[in-house]
Amino acid sequence: MQYLIIGASAAGINAAKTLRELDKYSAITLISKDTAVYSRCILHKALDGSRDLKGLSFIEEDFFQKYNINWIKDAHVSNIDIENKKVVIEDNTSYKFDKLLIASGASSFIPPVKNLREGKGVYSLRNFEDVTSIENGLKNAKNVVILGAGLVGVDAVLGLIEKNIKISIVEMGDRLLPLQLDKRASSIYEKLLKEKNIELFTSVKLEEVILNENGNVSKAVLSDLTALNCDMIIVAAGVRPNVNFIKDTRIKVEKGIVIDKCCKTTVDDIYAAGDVTFTAPIWPIAVKQGITAAFNMLGKNKELNDTFGMKNSMNLLGLECVSLGNINALDNSYNVDILESDRVYKKIIHKDGVIYGALLVGDISYCGVLGQLIKNKINIKHIHKDIFDIDYSDFYNVDSKGQYNYAVSST
Ligand SMILES: Cc1cc2nc3c(=O)[nH]c(=O)nc-3n(C[C@H](O)[C@H](O)[C@H](O)COP(=O)(O)OP(=O)(O)OC[C@H]3O[C@@H](n4cnc5c(N)ncnc54)[C@H](O)[C@@H]3O)c2cc1C
Repeated sequence: MQYLIIGASAAGINAAKTLRELDKYSAITLISKDTAVYSRCILHKALDGSRDLKGLSFIEEDFFQKYNINWIKDAHVSNIDIENKKVVIEDNTSYKFDKLLIASGASSFIPPVKNLREGKGVYSLRNFEDVTSIENGLKNAKNVVILGAGLVGVDAVLGLIEKNIKISIVEMGDRLLPLQLDKRASSIYEKLLKEKNIELFTSVKLEEVILNENGNVSKAVLSDLTALNCDMIIVAAGVRPNVNFIKDTRIKVEKGIVIDKCCKTTVDDIYAAGDVTFTAPIWPIAVKQGITAAFNMLGKNKELNDTFGMKNSMNLLGLECVSLGNINALDNSYNVDILESDRVYKKIIHKDGVIYGALLVGDISYCGVLGQLIKNKINIKHIHKDIFDIDYSDFYNVDSKGQYNYAVSST
């Protein structure tokens, strides 16, 4: 059996490892544009200089030898030949497969704003090469505009915060991290950003970029006509799946590659996992899908039903935060409990004994149990204590045979 995987990141690496653990003898080949294996989630640590490329790795140094995986790096897949079951790379070399996994991830999206795609000094933060480019650009930059205040935009801020530059963040939504924070939580962080002389412009769009005589960005003009001086723009405005090499429409692509619960695409023997499927573009989902795909490639039926991706934790400017599920009530039928003190803000959204979302800023205790309650929609009606104090012990049961068990899992 020849297993072939496109992509050497969260989904591809975990799939390859699972395949080898369950099949000691078949050939496993992994093809990637990447020349190193690293976690994109901690790219900001390379940007702030605290880690080098090796320090971003999430695999053992001898991973490919240890698991006997043939890694073809620096190779750009340009086509998949379904009929002849082979993957073609840019120099026309081709690789045969019996089972294929597409785990090619996603790329940063640069919105079609006037002069943004054309201008020099425009960067994104997705690959290690982007960090190197930003570092080079910073040699001549004093004013940086970050477009987008989502997770990647905030990571860009974290990476640049200690550098001697003026940072402005431009966000279409009405707050920082619109998917993770509510207005109140955002205002706490906005205050901290202000103390660091970082400006946040919310509820505005980037309308146009003015270029100087060298074609470098010089001003970012916003929809309210504010013109921000800038020598660099970092675009953190979402991602698009890497599907350019899929030319055969039998592999169905909508927002991403369409997969079923076994991570199988619409073509037999071809699977997909991770950001390329656009299910929930976060690391833990990519890992779970990679593992699920591997099981099914081996002929072992495994379904992935847990795609709960609405969980985020961060530590921004020394203040911890965890956001779980829906952080705003969908309508008036939901109850919203709030606990606030000096640097702590907690909010839980629930209805009929089921918790739908929680936001914990400054004190993230009990976030584990809350995550499980939200994910598994476990009813808490029978628990008569403060909702902010619920812990695992409240779900500790003794069954009819005298055996202990938990109604929520701590894993
Ligand atoms: C700055 C930043 C911060 C993030 N922070 C978080 C976070 O805090 N929490 C979280 O859960 N997630 C976070 N994410 C998202 C997370 O990194 C992704 O969900 C995860 O990397 C997806 O993994 P993947 O394996 O699907 O694809 P990717 O990591 O995108 O990797 C794709 C792989 O495919 C290869 N490839 C692509 N096209 C081709 C081709 N044509 N030929 C050959 N190889 C190809 C690439 O070289 C690469 O090896 C962050 C992402 C970024 C960029």
